[in-house]
Amino acid sequence: MNWEYAPAPESRAIVDLQPSYGLFIDGEFVDPGDGSAFKTVNPATEEVLAEVAAAGPADVDRAVEAARRAQHETWGPMSGAERAKYLFRVARILQERSRELAVLESLDNGKPIRESRDIDVPLSAAYFFYYAGWADKLEYAGFGPSPQPIGVAGQIIPWNFPLLMAAWKLAPALAAGNTSVLKPAETTPLTALVLAEIFQEAGLPPGVVNVVTGAGATGAALVAHPGVAKIAFTGSTDVGKGIQRELAGTGKRLTLELGGKGANIVFEDAPLDQAIEGIVNGIYFNQGHVCCAGSRLLVQESIAELVVEKLKARLQTLRLGDPLDKNTDIGAINSPVQLEKITELAAAGVAEGAERWTSPCALPEHGFWFPPTIFTDVSPSHRIAREEIFGPVLSVLTFRTPEEAVMKANNTPYGLSAGIWTEKGSRILWMAQQLRAGVVWANTFNRFDPTSPFGGYRESGFGREGGRHGLEAYLDV
Ligand code: ADP
Repeated sequence: MNWEYAPAPESRAIVDLQPSYGLFIDGEFVDPGDGSAFKTVNPATEEVLAEVAAAGPADVDRAVEAARRAQHETWGPMSGAERAKYLFRVARILQERSRELAVLESLDNGKPIRESRDIDVPLSAAYFFYYAGWADKLEYAGFGPSPQPIGVAGQIIPWNFPLLMAAWKLAPALAAGNTSVLKPAETTPLTALVLAEIFQEAGLPPGVVNVVTGAGATGAALVAHPGVAKIAFTGSTDVGKGIQRELAGTGKRLTLELGGKGANIVFEDAPLDQAIEGIVNGIYFNQGHVCCAGSRLLVQESIAELVVEKLKARLQTLRLGDPLDKNTDIGAINSPVQLEKITELAAAGVAEGAERWTSPCALPEHGFWFPPTIFTDVSPSHRIAREEIFGPVLSVLTFRTPEEAVMKANNTPYGLSAGIWTEKGSRILWMAQQLRAGVVWANTFNRFDPTSPFGGYRESGFGREGGRHGLEAYLDV
Protein backbone atom coordinates (compact mmCIF):
# COMPACT_ATOMS: atom_id res chain seq x y z
CA MET A 1 0.00 0.00 0.00
CA ASN A 2 1.20 3.54 -0.76
CA TRP A 3 0.80 5.91 2.15
CA GLU A 4 0.33 9.55 1.27
CA TYR A 5 2.13 12.18 3.30
CA ALA A 6 0.13 14.99 4.84
CA PRO A 7 1.71 18.43 4.42
CA ALA A 8 4.10 19.20 7.28
CA PRO A 9 5.20 22.78 6.69
CA GLU A 10 7.57 24.51 9.08
CA SER A 11 6.14 27.91 10.02
CA ARG A 12 7.93 30.91 8.57
CA ALA A 13 6.58 33.13 11.36
CA ILE A 14 9.85 32.69 13.25
CA VAL A 15 11.65 34.76 10.61
CA ASP A 16 11.39 38.50 10.98
CA LEU A 17 12.00 39.54 7.39
CA GLN A 18 12.72 43.22 6.93
CA PRO A 19 11.69 44.92 3.69
CA SER A 20 15.24 46.10 3.14
CA TYR A 21 18.75 45.39 4.45
CA GLY A 22 21.84 47.61 4.53
CA LEU A 23 25.51 46.73 4.60
CA PHE A 24 27.18 45.65 7.85
CA ILE A 25 30.23 47.85 8.31
CA ASP A 26 32.14 48.64 11.50
CA GLY A 27 29.55 46.93 13.68
CA GLU A 28 26.53 48.79 12.27
CA PHE A 29 23.99 48.27 9.51
CA VAL A 30 24.46 51.20 7.14
CA ASP A 31 23.07 52.41 3.84
CA PRO A 32 25.36 52.02 0.85
CA GLY A 33 27.25 55.19 -0.10
CA ASP A 34 27.99 54.57 -3.75
CA GLY A 35 26.11 51.32 -4.12
CA SER A 36 22.62 50.43 -5.25
CA ALA A 37 20.10 47.75 -4.25
CA PHE A 38 18.88 44.40 -5.53
CA LYS A 39 16.06 42.03 -4.70
CA THR A 40 16.44 38.58 -3.27
CA VAL A 41 13.80 36.08 -4.30
CA ASN A 42 12.37 32.85 -2.87
CA PRO A 43 13.24 30.40 -5.66
CA ALA A 44 10.36 28.10 -4.71
CA THR A 45 7.70 30.79 -5.24
CA GLU A 46 9.44 33.67 -7.05
CA GLU A 47 8.23 35.93 -4.24
CA VAL A 48 10.52 38.88 -3.48
CA LEU A 49 11.79 38.37 0.07
CA ALA A 50 13.64 41.65 0.60
CA GLU A 51 15.66 44.37 -0.99
CA VAL A 52 19.35 44.21 -0.19
CA ALA A 53 22.09 46.81 -0.58
CA ALA A 54 24.68 46.27 -3.31
CA ALA A 55 28.00 47.68 -2.14
CA GLY A 56 29.97 49.90 -4.49
CA PRO A 57 33.78 50.34 -4.43
CA ALA A 58 33.60 53.15 -1.83
CA ASP A 59 31.49 50.91 0.43
CA VAL A 60 34.00 48.10 0.04
CA ASP A 61 36.73 50.59 0.90
CA ARG A 62 34.88 51.62 4.10
CA ALA A 63 34.49 47.96 5.05
CA VAL A 64 38.16 47.16 4.45
CA GLU A 65 39.24 50.23 6.44
CA ALA A 66 37.01 49.18 9.35
CA ALA A 67 38.48 45.67 9.19
CA ARG A 68 42.04 47.05 9.14
CA ARG A 69 41.43 49.23 12.18
CA ALA A 70 39.85 46.36 14.07
CA GLN A 71 42.71 44.05 13.14
CA HIS A 72 45.35 46.51 14.36
CA GLU A 73 43.59 47.90 17.38
CA THR A 74 41.35 45.25 18.91
CA TRP A 75 41.19 41.79 17.37
CA GLY A 76 44.85 41.32 16.42
CA PRO A 77 46.31 42.32 19.82
CA MET A 78 43.65 40.41 21.76
CA SER A 79 44.74 37.14 23.40
CA GLY A 80 43.62 33.92 21.75
CA ALA A 81 41.67 32.96 24.87
CA GLU A 82 39.67 36.19 24.64
CA ARG A 83 38.96 35.69 20.94
CA ALA A 84 37.79 32.17 21.72
CA LYS A 85 35.15 33.53 24.11
CA TYR A 86 33.57 35.54 21.31
CA LEU A 87 33.64 32.58 18.92
CA PHE A 88 32.06 30.28 21.49
CA ARG A 89 29.39 32.93 22.07
CA VAL A 90 28.68 33.13 18.33
CA ALA A 91 28.38 29.34 18.17
CA ARG A 92 25.92 29.30 21.07
CA ILE A 93 23.76 32.03 19.55
CA LEU A 94 23.75 30.16 16.24
CA GLN A 95 22.33 27.20 18.12
CA GLU A 96 19.79 29.35 19.93
CA ARG A 97 18.60 30.92 16.68
CA SER A 98 18.92 27.71 14.67
CA ARG A 99 15.26 27.37 13.77
CA GLU A 100 15.03 30.92 12.49
CA LEU A 101 18.22 30.49 10.47
CA ALA A 102 17.06 27.18 8.98
CA VAL A 103 13.76 28.66 7.84
CA LEU A 104 15.45 31.75 6.43
CA GLU A 105 18.04 29.64 4.58
CA SER A 106 15.33 27.50 3.01
CA LEU A 107 13.35 30.59 2.01
CA ASP A 108 16.28 32.35 0.38
CA ASN A 109 18.08 29.33 -1.10
CA GLY A 110 15.27 26.85 -1.86
CA LYS A 111 16.89 23.92 -0.03
CA PRO A 112 14.67 21.55 1.98
CA ILE A 113 14.19 22.54 5.61
CA ARG A 114 15.29 19.04 6.60
CA GLU A 115 18.74 19.85 5.21
CA SER A 116 19.04 23.43 6.47
CA ARG A 117 17.79 22.32 9.90
CA ASP A 118 19.89 19.14 10.22
CA ILE A 119 23.00 20.01 8.24
CA ASP A 120 23.67 23.65 7.32
CA VAL A 121 22.86 25.29 10.63
CA PRO A 122 24.25 22.72 13.11
CA LEU A 123 27.42 22.39 11.05
CA SER A 124 27.83 26.18 10.98
CA ALA A 125 27.72 26.22 14.77
CA ALA A 126 30.12 23.26 14.87
CA TYR A 127 32.73 25.16 12.81
CA PHE A 128 32.62 28.10 15.24
CA PHE A 129 32.91 25.73 18.22
CA TYR A 130 35.79 23.88 16.62
CA TYR A 131 37.85 26.95 15.71
CA ALA A 132 37.06 28.63 19.03
CA GLY A 133 39.00 25.70 20.48
CA TRP A 134 42.04 26.52 18.34
CA ALA A 135 42.15 30.26 19.09
CA ASP A 136 44.26 29.89 22.25
CA LYS A 137 46.34 26.97 20.95
CA LEU A 138 47.77 28.39 17.73
CA GLU A 139 51.34 27.97 18.93
CA TYR A 140 50.68 24.22 19.17
CA ALA A 141 49.13 23.91 15.69
CA GLY A 142 52.43 23.02 14.03
CA PHE A 143 53.07 26.39 12.40
CA GLY A 144 55.92 27.58 14.61
CA PRO A 145 56.04 28.96 18.14
CA SER A 146 54.31 32.27 17.43
CA PRO A 147 52.13 32.14 14.33
CA GLN A 148 50.77 35.54 13.31
CA PRO A 149 47.56 36.53 11.53
CA ILE A 150 47.74 37.78 7.96
CA GLY A 151 45.51 40.85 8.28
CA VAL A 152 42.23 41.57 6.52
CA ALA A 153 40.70 38.61 4.68
CA GLY A 154 38.35 39.23 1.77
CA GLN A 155 36.01 36.24 1.75
CA ILE A 156 33.72 35.60 -1.22
CA ILE A 157 31.16 32.83 -0.92
CA PRO A 158 28.62 31.10 -3.18
CA TRP A 159 24.87 30.51 -2.88
CA ASN A 160 24.70 26.74 -2.34
CA PHE A 161 25.45 26.73 1.42
CA PRO A 162 25.20 30.41 2.30
CA LEU A 163 25.46 30.28 6.10
CA LEU A 164 27.74 27.24 6.20
CA MET A 165 30.23 28.76 3.75
CA ALA A 166 30.28 31.95 5.83
CA ALA A 167 31.08 29.82 8.90
CA TRP A 168 33.77 27.83 7.04
CA LYS A 169 35.48 31.08 6.07
CA LEU A 170 34.96 33.23 9.16
CA ALA A 171 35.62 30.78 11.99
CA PRO A 172 39.27 29.94 11.12
CA ALA A 173 40.05 33.49 9.99
CA LEU A 174 38.83 35.01 13.26
CA ALA A 175 40.35 32.30 15.45
CA ALA A 176 43.74 33.13 13.93
CA GLY A 177 43.38 36.86 14.65
CA ASN A 178 42.41 38.12 11.21
CA THR A 179 39.44 40.34 10.47
CA SER A 180 37.11 39.89 7.53
CA VAL A 181 35.09 41.51 4.81
CA LEU A 182 32.58 38.88 3.72
CA LYS A 183 30.82 39.00 0.35
CA PRO A 184 27.79 36.69 0.24
CA ALA A 185 26.31 35.55 -3.08
CA GLU A 186 23.74 37.81 -4.67
CA THR A 187 20.91 35.26 -4.67
CA THR A 188 21.34 34.28 -1.00
CA PRO A 189 22.43 37.23 1.15
CA LEU A 190 19.94 36.94 4.03
CA THR A 191 21.49 34.46 6.47
CA ALA A 192 24.84 36.29 6.32
CA LEU A 193 22.97 39.41 7.42
CA VAL A 194 21.38 37.57 10.35
CA LEU A 195 24.86 36.28 11.15
CA ALA A 196 25.92 39.95 11.29
CA GLU A 197 23.13 40.54 13.83
CA ILE A 198 24.50 37.60 15.79
CA PHE A 199 27.94 39.22 15.82
CA GLN A 200 26.33 42.34 17.27
CA GLU A 201 24.48 40.25 19.84
CA ALA A 202 27.73 38.50 20.78
CA GLY A 203 29.39 41.90 21.31
CA LEU A 204 32.04 41.20 18.69
CA PRO A 205 34.16 44.38 18.44
CA PRO A 206 33.12 46.62 15.52
CA GLY A 207 34.93 45.98 12.24
CA VAL A 208 36.03 42.42 13.02
CA VAL A 209 33.49 41.13 10.51
CA ASN A 210 31.96 43.31 7.81
CA VAL A 211 29.36 42.06 5.34
CA VAL A 212 29.20 43.67 1.91
CA THR A 213 26.30 42.30 -0.09
CA GLY A 214 26.22 42.64 -3.86
CA ALA A 215 26.97 40.81 -7.08
CA GLY A 216 30.21 39.98 -8.91
CA ALA A 217 31.25 43.66 -9.14
CA THR A 218 31.27 43.94 -5.33
CA GLY A 219 33.40 40.80 -5.14
CA ALA A 220 35.75 42.20 -7.78
CA ALA A 221 36.14 45.45 -5.81
CA LEU A 222 37.07 43.42 -2.75
CA VAL A 223 39.63 41.36 -4.70
CA ALA A 224 41.19 44.56 -6.10
CA HIS A 225 41.37 46.43 -2.77
CA PRO A 226 44.98 47.04 -1.71
CA GLY A 227 44.09 46.80 2.00
CA VAL A 228 43.10 43.15 1.71
CA ALA A 229 45.92 40.76 2.59
CA LYS A 230 44.21 37.54 1.60
CA ILE A 231 41.35 36.43 -0.63
CA ALA A 232 39.43 33.25 0.08
CA PHE A 233 37.05 32.40 -2.73
CA THR A 234 34.52 29.63 -3.20
CA GLY A 235 32.65 29.64 -6.50
CA SER A 236 32.97 28.83 -10.16
CA THR A 237 36.24 27.76 -11.74
CA ASP A 238 36.10 30.57 -14.31
CA VAL A 239 35.78 33.34 -11.75
CA GLY A 240 38.42 31.65 -9.57
CA LYS A 241 40.89 31.57 -12.45
CA GLY A 242 40.24 35.25 -13.13
CA ILE A 243 40.93 36.10 -9.49
CA GLN A 244 44.15 34.07 -9.55
CA ARG A 245 45.31 35.94 -12.66
CA GLU A 246 44.49 39.27 -11.07
CA LEU A 247 46.29 38.53 -7.81
CA ALA A 248 49.44 37.17 -9.45
CA GLY A 249 52.38 39.30 -8.34
CA THR A 250 50.41 41.39 -5.81
CA GLY A 251 51.67 39.50 -2.76
CA LYS A 252 48.10 38.85 -1.62
CA ARG A 253 47.45 35.35 -0.37
CA LEU A 254 44.81 33.26 -2.10
CA THR A 255 42.83 30.08 -1.53
CA LEU A 256 40.33 28.82 -4.08
CA GLU A 257 37.59 26.25 -3.70
CA LEU A 258 36.10 25.75 -7.15
CA GLY A 259 34.09 23.23 -9.12
CA GLY A 260 34.13 19.45 -9.25
CA LYS A 261 32.97 16.39 -11.13
CA GLY A 262 33.20 13.81 -8.35
CA ALA A 263 33.18 10.08 -9.10
CA ASN A 264 31.12 7.81 -6.87
CA ILE A 265 32.55 4.33 -7.49
CA VAL A 266 30.46 1.25 -6.69
CA PHE A 267 32.02 -2.22 -6.75
CA GLU A 268 30.03 -5.43 -7.10
CA ASP A 269 30.74 -6.44 -3.49
CA ALA A 270 29.32 -3.17 -2.08
CA PRO A 271 26.38 -3.21 0.31
CA LEU A 272 23.95 -2.25 -2.44
CA ASP A 273 21.06 -0.68 -0.58
CA GLN A 274 23.47 1.42 1.44
CA ALA A 275 25.25 2.40 -1.77
CA ILE A 276 21.95 3.46 -3.35
CA GLU A 277 21.37 5.81 -0.41
CA GLY A 278 24.92 7.09 -0.83
CA ILE A 279 24.43 7.72 -4.54
CA VAL A 280 21.20 9.60 -3.81
CA ASN A 281 22.90 11.64 -1.09
CA GLY A 282 25.88 12.19 -3.37
CA ILE A 283 24.02 13.90 -6.19
CA TYR A 284 20.46 14.76 -5.13
CA PHE A 285 21.39 16.34 -1.76
CA ASN A 286 20.85 20.12 -1.98
CA GLN A 287 19.46 19.67 -5.53
CA GLY A 288 22.97 18.73 -6.65
CA HIS A 289 24.15 22.29 -5.88
CA VAL A 290 27.27 20.85 -4.27
CA CYS A 291 30.80 21.35 -5.61
CA CYS A 292 31.87 17.95 -4.27
CA ALA A 293 28.72 16.19 -5.56
CA GLY A 294 29.08 12.62 -6.83
CA SER A 295 27.82 13.62 -10.26
CA ARG A 296 29.50 10.69 -12.04
CA LEU A 297 28.44 7.24 -10.91
CA LEU A 298 31.05 4.64 -11.85
CA VAL A 299 29.46 1.26 -11.34
CA GLN A 300 31.00 -2.14 -11.91
CA GLU A 301 29.56 -3.63 -15.09
CA SER A 302 28.27 -6.82 -13.44
CA ILE A 303 25.83 -4.90 -11.24
CA ALA A 304 25.17 -1.85 -13.40
CA GLU A 305 21.68 -2.85 -14.50
CA LEU A 306 20.60 -3.75 -11.00
CA VAL A 307 21.98 -0.53 -9.50
CA VAL A 308 20.25 1.66 -12.08
CA GLU A 309 17.00 -0.20 -11.56
CA LYS A 310 17.19 0.20 -7.76
CA LEU A 311 18.18 3.82 -8.14
CA LYS A 312 15.20 4.61 -10.36
CA ALA A 313 12.87 2.92 -7.86
CA ARG A 314 14.40 4.95 -5.03
CA LEU A 315 14.23 8.25 -6.91
CA GLN A 316 10.52 7.77 -7.45
CA THR A 317 10.04 7.89 -3.69
CA LEU A 318 11.81 11.25 -3.33
CA ARG A 319 9.43 14.09 -2.69
CA LEU A 320 10.01 17.29 -4.63
CA GLY A 321 8.30 20.52 -3.61
CA ASP A 322 7.86 23.11 -0.88
CA PRO A 323 11.29 23.51 0.78
CA LEU A 324 9.61 24.39 4.07
CA ASP A 325 7.75 21.06 4.19
CA LYS A 326 9.57 18.75 6.58
CA ASN A 327 8.95 15.77 4.28
CA THR A 328 10.50 17.38 1.22
CA ASP A 329 13.63 15.72 -0.18
CA ILE A 330 14.27 17.88 -3.26
CA GLY A 331 13.79 21.62 -3.08
CA ALA A 332 13.96 24.39 -5.67
CA ILE A 333 16.80 25.24 -8.04
CA ASN A 334 18.36 28.39 -6.64
CA SER A 335 17.87 30.72 -9.62
CA PRO A 336 16.54 30.86 -13.17
CA VAL A 337 20.13 31.26 -14.36
CA GLN A 338 21.14 27.98 -12.73
CA LEU A 339 18.00 26.24 -14.01
CA GLU A 340 18.92 27.35 -17.50
CA LYS A 341 22.45 25.92 -17.13
CA ILE A 342 21.15 22.56 -15.92
CA THR A 343 18.51 22.43 -18.66
CA GLU A 344 21.06 23.24 -21.35
CA LEU A 345 23.58 20.63 -20.21
CA ALA A 346 20.88 17.95 -19.85
CA ALA A 347 19.72 18.71 -23.40
CA ALA A 348 23.33 18.31 -24.56
CA GLY A 349 23.37 14.88 -22.91
CA VAL A 350 20.41 13.78 -25.03
CA ALA A 351 21.87 15.36 -28.17
CA GLU A 352 25.16 13.52 -27.64
CA GLY A 353 23.34 10.19 -27.45
CA ALA A 354 23.04 9.36 -23.75
CA GLU A 355 19.81 7.85 -22.44
CA ARG A 356 17.85 10.20 -20.20
CA TRP A 357 15.50 9.09 -17.43
CA THR A 358 13.61 11.59 -15.33
CA SER A 359 11.69 10.81 -12.18
CA PRO A 360 8.01 11.24 -12.96
CA CYS A 361 7.20 13.85 -10.32
CA ALA A 362 4.90 16.82 -10.70
CA LEU A 363 6.67 20.18 -10.62
CA PRO A 364 5.10 23.13 -8.78
CA GLU A 365 3.61 25.83 -10.98
CA HIS A 366 5.79 28.68 -9.71
CA GLY A 367 9.44 28.76 -8.87
CA PHE A 368 12.46 27.01 -10.40
CA TRP A 369 12.48 23.22 -10.46
CA PHE A 370 14.33 20.35 -12.04
CA PRO A 371 13.30 16.72 -11.40
CA PRO A 372 15.89 14.10 -10.38
CA THR A 373 17.43 12.81 -13.60
CA ILE A 374 19.73 9.96 -14.57
CA PHE A 375 21.75 9.56 -17.75
CA THR A 376 22.86 6.06 -18.79
CA ASP A 377 24.90 5.07 -21.87
CA VAL A 378 27.21 7.93 -21.03
CA SER A 379 30.67 7.92 -22.54
CA PRO A 380 33.59 9.77 -20.96
CA SER A 381 33.69 12.24 -23.84
CA HIS A 382 30.12 13.46 -23.32
CA ARG A 383 29.74 16.94 -21.87
CA ILE A 384 27.56 15.53 -19.08
CA ALA A 385 30.52 13.34 -18.04
CA ARG A 386 33.04 16.19 -18.11
CA GLU A 387 31.32 19.44 -17.14
CA GLU A 388 30.02 20.34 -13.73
CA ILE A 389 26.22 20.45 -13.88
CA PHE A 390 25.50 21.67 -10.33
CA GLY A 391 22.03 20.18 -10.44
CA PRO A 392 20.14 16.94 -9.68
CA VAL A 393 21.52 15.07 -12.66
CA LEU A 394 23.59 11.89 -12.46
CA SER A 395 25.74 10.47 -15.27
CA VAL A 396 26.25 6.71 -15.08
CA LEU A 397 29.39 5.09 -16.50
CA THR A 398 30.61 1.53 -16.04
CA PHE A 399 33.95 -0.17 -15.38
CA ARG A 400 35.26 -3.72 -15.11
CA THR A 401 38.43 -3.53 -13.00
CA PRO A 402 39.64 -1.30 -10.15
CA GLU A 403 42.35 0.07 -12.47
CA GLU A 404 39.75 1.12 -15.01
CA ALA A 405 37.67 2.74 -12.26
CA VAL A 406 40.66 4.80 -11.13
CA MET A 407 41.49 5.82 -14.68
CA LYS A 408 37.95 6.94 -15.39
CA ALA A 409 37.55 8.68 -12.03
CA ASN A 410 40.75 10.67 -12.58
CA ASN A 411 39.83 11.51 -16.16
CA THR A 412 38.67 15.03 -15.32
CA PRO A 413 40.34 18.42 -14.96
CA TYR A 414 38.81 18.63 -11.48
CA GLY A 415 39.92 16.91 -8.28
CA LEU A 416 37.64 17.66 -5.36
CA SER A 417 35.89 14.51 -4.21
CA ALA A 418 35.36 10.81 -4.80
CA GLY A 419 33.49 7.96 -3.16
CA ILE A 420 34.27 4.24 -2.97
CA TRP A 421 31.73 1.55 -2.15
CA THR A 422 33.17 -1.88 -1.42
CA GLU A 423 33.39 -4.39 1.38
CA LYS A 424 37.18 -4.71 1.00
CA GLY A 425 39.20 -2.44 3.28
CA SER A 426 42.40 -3.06 1.33
CA ARG A 427 40.73 -1.95 -1.89
CA ILE A 428 39.51 1.24 -0.21
CA LEU A 429 43.07 2.09 0.84
CA TRP A 430 44.51 1.27 -2.58
CA MET A 431 41.85 3.30 -4.39
CA ALA A 432 42.16 6.27 -2.04
CA GLN A 433 45.87 6.45 -2.83
CA GLN A 434 45.25 6.40 -6.58
CA LEU A 435 42.38 8.87 -6.72
CA ARG A 436 43.39 12.45 -7.32
CA ALA A 437 40.74 14.09 -5.19
CA GLY A 438 40.96 16.28 -2.10
CA VAL A 439 38.45 14.18 -0.20
CA VAL A 440 37.72 10.48 -0.67
CA TRP A 441 34.74 9.01 1.15
CA ALA A 442 34.51 5.27 1.77
CA ASN A 443 31.06 3.68 2.02
CA THR A 444 29.54 7.11 2.56
CA PHE A 445 29.35 10.40 0.68
CA ASN A 446 28.97 14.13 1.34
CA ARG A 447 29.98 13.91 4.98
CA PHE A 448 31.36 17.10 6.47
CA ASP A 449 33.09 17.68 9.75
CA PRO A 450 34.93 20.71 11.12
CA THR A 451 37.93 18.59 12.10
CA SER A 452 38.46 17.36 8.55
CA PRO A 453 40.29 19.37 5.88
CA PHE A 454 38.42 19.96 2.62
CA GLY A 455 39.73 21.28 -0.69
CA GLY A 456 40.79 20.39 -4.17
CA TYR A 457 43.46 19.65 -6.72
CA ARG A 458 43.93 21.15 -10.17
CA GLU A 459 40.83 23.00 -11.46
CA SER A 460 39.04 22.40 -8.16
CA GLY A 461 41.36 24.91 -6.52
CA PHE A 462 43.96 24.89 -3.76
CA GLY A 463 44.15 25.42 -0.02
CA ARG A 464 42.26 23.54 2.66
CA GLU A 465 39.31 24.56 4.81
CA GLY A 466 38.53 22.76 8.03
CA GLY A 467 40.70 21.03 10.57
CA ARG A 468 44.17 22.12 11.62
CA HIS A 469 45.03 22.55 7.94
CA GLY A 470 42.33 25.20 7.64
CA LEU A 471 44.28 27.46 10.01
CA GLU A 472 47.26 27.58 7.69
CA ALA A 473 45.34 29.67 5.16
CA TYR A 474 44.94 32.40 7.79
CA LEU A 475 48.35 32.37 9.43
CA ASP A 476 51.53 34.01 8.22
CA VAL A 477 53.50 30.77 7.99
P1 ADP B 1 28.31 30.40 -9.19
O1 ADP B 1 28.36 29.84 -10.56
O2 ADP B 1 28.41 29.42 -8.09
O3 ADP B 1 27.28 31.46 -8.99
P2 ADP B 1 30.29 32.49 -9.14
O4 ADP B 1 31.75 32.23 -9.20
O5 ADP B 1 29.66 33.30 -10.21
O6 ADP B 1 29.70 31.05 -8.99
O7 ADP B 1 29.91 33.15 -7.75
C1 ADP B 1 30.50 32.86 -6.52
C2 ADP B 1 30.73 34.15 -5.76
O8 ADP B 1 31.67 34.95 -6.47
C3 ADP B 1 29.48 35.03 -5.62
O9 ADP B 1 29.51 35.66 -4.35
C4 ADP B 1 29.65 36.05 -6.73
O10 ADP B 1 28.97 37.25 -6.49
C5 ADP B 1 31.14 36.25 -6.70
N1 ADP B 1 31.72 36.76 -7.96
C6 ADP B 1 31.25 36.63 -9.22
N2 ADP B 1 32.07 37.21 -10.11
C7 ADP B 1 33.11 37.74 -9.40
C8 ADP B 1 34.31 38.46 -9.74
N3 ADP B 1 34.61 38.75 -11.00
N4 ADP B 1 35.16 38.79 -8.74
C9 ADP B 1 34.89 38.46 -7.47
N5 ADP B 1 33.78 37.81 -7.08
C10 ADP B 1 32.90 37.44 -8.02
